[in-house]
Amino acid sequence: MPENRCRIIGGWYLLLVGICVCQILFVGCESPTTSQTVGAIEIVGSDAFRAAVESALLRLQSQPGLYDDAMRNIGRLQEGTPEYYGVTAWQRPAIFAVHPETWPVSATWLAGATMHESCHVRQYHDAMSVYGNPPPQEMYSGTWAERECQVETLETLRRLNAPQSEIDALMRYVE
Ligand SMILES: [Zn+2]
Repeated sequence: MPENRCRIIGGWYLLLVGICVCQILFVGCESPTTSQTVGAIEIVGSDAFRAAVESALLRLQSQPGLYDDAMRNIGRLQEGTPEYYGVTAWQRPAIFAVHPETWPVSATWLAGATMHESCHVRQYHDAMSVYGNPPPQEMYSGTWAERECQVETLETLRRLNAPQSEIDALMRYVE
């Protein structure tokens, strides 16, 4: 198994039942399957995964600024597993390994998750420019950092006219 090449930090996933997990995690790699691109972002995974991500990214492209923000921070969305998910925030653009309970929910939910991880990558690099590398962990995965990214996720869902159930699920973290 490849060693640190696929180290993951800041893993996050959301379920409609209202579970959000951000954690520092390292686990091994799943070997990529087929890939395609939407704009500059690569998508790696099964046919169903790639279709779901393409749909989410097209939603982001429909809103000025969102896709550009995502593209600046995320270079690849990859199908994750229960053991392997999260974002390589120290890279820019980073790899976002998407939790298997996140991507099947809906295009808007996955678009929100993408902007959420994009936010953490930006936080990491903003903090690095101030504190050096590696920056303090709380700057990109602490309570304040998490809240900032949840707010950005909520803004994304609203701009994309996401179902109210998704907005309600996220509001629990933002209020
Ligand atoms: Zn987070």
